[in-house]
Amino acid sequence: MDHPPALPEENDRNANDLRERTFLPELLKGLGITARHFWKNLFGTRDANVHVLDRKGDSLVTTVQYPEEKVLYPPGYRGLHRLVPREDDPAKPRCVACYMCATICPAQCIYIEAAEYETTDPSTASRVIEKFPKQFVIDELRCIVCGLCVDACPKDAIRMDTGVHTPSEYTRQDFVYDIPKLLRGPPVSHPSDPWFKRGGSEAPEHVHKEAHTRIGEGLVQLKLPQGHRVEVDRSHPVAITKFYK
Ligand code: SF4
Ligand code: SF4
Repeated sequence: MDHPPALPEENDRNANDLRERTFLPELLKGLGITARHFWKNLFGTRDANVHVLDRKGDSLVTTVQYPEEKVLYPPGYRGLHRLVPREDDPAKPRCVACYMCATICPAQCIYIEAAEYETTDPSTASRVIEKFPKQFVIDELRCIVCGLCVDACPKDAIRMDTGVHTPSEYTRQDFVYDIPKLLRGPPVSHPSDPWFKRGGSEAPEHVHKEAHTRIGEGLVQLKLPQGHRVEVDRSHPVAITKFYK
């Protein structure tokens, strides 16, 4: 019995069959794409990526070379804690040792020991606040980064606005942050701060500094590629709005 003549598409399929079954052309095509990206990444140049901090070099590699390069954290990101310094005396924390952060902490990773400022302290700046934390310790390994301590603090004395997360360490003890490690960053002032109100202390010139300690202005120094600059929007807590070349 005679077979009907094959349709043209069927002929094509038969012709391609061996090629498809060996995968060789597709294999070579894939290798070509890989090679193209390899040489482009090795020798090409790239635009500065506005979403990456501390961008280095001009390589076209899109992978962020962490930790040398970092991606900008989104607004509201909760980073590593810091104890906010007092504006009238930046060596002292704003913390008044009220224990509210330690009480609310669901991971129970904050340990505080309160002490009283000496009333005979010749430094009048100390006496405007009665209590201070003799010890203030956060175990960053136990912390679940919920931010409740920041919300609970009545004095804006603890923040998570460092723009970095807890760095890697070799020992567990190194993750236990005490006052010398926590007390950092720009001081903050509020109109209700006692050194603006009570006599006997020298009131600093009041500039409200609540919202300008985020990425780009506070602890995280932007290292942009040469010839680039950012514009900072001070009305918004995470501040980079425009990127220029
Ligand atoms: S972020 Fe949450 S878990 Fe971490 S110290 Fe604050 S309250 Fe505790
Ligand atoms: S950091 Fe704030 S909430 Fe915690 S003890 Fe100090 S003042 Fe109280």
